[in-house]
Amino acid sequence: MKNLRTFSFCLGLILITTTSIQAQEADFIARNGFFWTVDNNNPIAEAVAATQGRLIYVGSDTGVEAHIGANTKIIDLDGAFVTPGFYDNHVHFEGTGRLLYGLNLLDVSTEDEFIRRIRDVDDRFSAGTWITGGDWSAYETWLEGDVAEAGNMVNPDDPYGNLFLPNKQMIDRFTQDRPVLVRRFDRKVYLANSIALELAGITTGSENPDGISVERNNNGEPTGALFNPVSGAVESTVLIRDNIRELFRNLIPEPSREQRIAETREVWKKMASVGVTSYCDITSNPIYVDIYQQLRDAREMTARVRYRPPLDKWKSMNDLGIKVGFGDEWVRFGATKAWIDGIMGNSSARFYSPYTHNPSSRGIWRDIMFPFERSPLNPEDMQSRLERLALEADANGIQLTVHAIGDEANGYLMDMLERIIAKNGKKDRRFRLVHAQVMTDEDIRRGGEMGIVAEVQPFHASDDMRWMEERIGKERSRGAYAFRRLWDSGAVVSFGTDSPGTNASRYYLNPMLGLYAAVTRKTLSGIPEGGWFPHEKLTIEEAIKAYTLNTAYAGFEENIKGSLEVGKLADMAVLSENLLEISPDNIKNVSVRTTIVGGIVVFEAD
Ligand SMILES: [Zn+2]
Repeated sequence: MKNLRTFSFCLGLILITTTSIQAQEADFIARNGFFWTVDNNNPIAEAVAATQGRLIYVGSDTGVEAHIGANTKIIDLDGAFVTPGFYDNHVHFEGTGRLLYGLNLLDVSTEDEFIRRIRDVDDRFSAGTWITGGDWSAYETWLEGDVAEAGNMVNPDDPYGNLFLPNKQMIDRFTQDRPVLVRRFDRKVYLANSIALELAGITTGSENPDGISVERNNNGEPTGALFNPVSGAVESTVLIRDNIRELFRNLIPEPSREQRIAETREVWKKMASVGVTSYCDITSNPIYVDIYQQLRDAREMTARVRYRPPLDKWKSMNDLGIKVGFGDEWVRFGATKAWIDGIMGNSSARFYSPYTHNPSSRGIWRDIMFPFERSPLNPEDMQSRLERLALEADANGIQLTVHAIGDEANGYLMDMLERIIAKNGKKDRRFRLVHAQVMTDEDIRRGGEMGIVAEVQPFHASDDMRWMEERIGKERSRGAYAFRRLWDSGAVVSFGTDSPGTNASRYYLNPMLGLYAAVTRKTLSGIPEGGWFPHEKLTIEEAIKAYTLNTAYAGFEENIKGSLEVGKLADMAVLSENLLEISPDNIKNVSVRTTIVGGIVVFEAD
């Protein structure tokens, strides 16, 4: 009797399922494609169907027919290769928007181009809006794509290292209705136009403001070039005291909401054009959360975001009941971000031993490491402020993500994580070691054992390999961007970009550059042949997974994103080539034909 009841119950279920599949009309179907689903149980498909943003079918071209209805939008992919939408694990969204919509002078060191770029922005910005930033001459030092020679190209006879120094006359003619204050990449030198100089009280007769040198012509008139004090080596950018920014801080208004929205749209447009359908926003101004909601409600969002405030905001999150999982499928919360050391770009990352090229320095700890004091619970236990914050946030269900570049910084975090596990107990915490850039063998092993997420940005490897060994030597470089060993250790390797980069490098949102870097371990110009520490290469299948499912896992979102499976969001990227078939050297040239988010086409190449 019992068996019979179970039998009829099952039969009923089968009937219901079958009927509902037949009845379920899709509003979106893509067919005649090569879908690389990143689902182990069903790795390759020809077609998908979606209703209300979610996949209802992933399978064959014949099977998808059942879902065609009167209102189904059907795309014929003509055999194209499709992946799940890319999920960028690390985007400085606000900075990216400012660079894409605002001024970018990173690759500029000539008068003509300097003028042209500022004029472009002048055309785009509303009247009165300040033009700021720019970071001119960044690539004077390290040319993009090249293998660097020892040393750099800045002028050693100038204590500021200038090869190119602009003046206000270059831009005054067309910037009469707005102040301009742009800077060299290392913040040693700024250029102000006449209006900005006037607002700051820097005129022909004025005294120089404290701690700032003002360049003047023979008549004592300021040329617009302003200098922060520098000491030490020409190339050192670590210890700049930015007096100029301080002087102007109260004069430059915050960007308007309209400006921020324009920047936001620009970033999403860029993301859609390169197949990015989700991203983590690292500590943009909280006003972006409000902007995201406004644009989500207006159905303008084309990429999903997981927003991460700084760790010292964990208490406010906790007071509001925000934990891992909070939010909807467009805007989510649950993690915090902290930084414990510097970066490789200016040799401020923290190492156990001194830099090879600068034996007097091991890099720096960030402020959050201090005060370093006695634990309230145990007089022998010395704790950083970071550790106290991390212990509490973790105990309250908030995910920790911490930036660490140098081997000592990564080692400190592995020690700290062991102590957190000992105090707060084992749980599914998915600690995100952000960048995990240079690690000792022992720390790679420990990270894997503790199941960390290595939140890495593979293009850093292509960029940094040009000078890594000069700065930290060959032995330590073995542990740099050690993606293969991290993967094999049991760590979950997740990919992204760190867009827009630092003052020394630009990181583009394009996932193809990251996939290329992880699979080839070469610079953009294809050097070295065979790859840098080639045993650390990942396969293309692994690299795609790192950029999709693993990043979804890293955000506790693997149930809704990261692979093309029934029930998950219909986010995908249609590519110009089959990544599994082309030569790895060509991955960097692959483009996106179509990007689909929630079953809606958000980008189509011309
Ligand atoms: Zn970053």
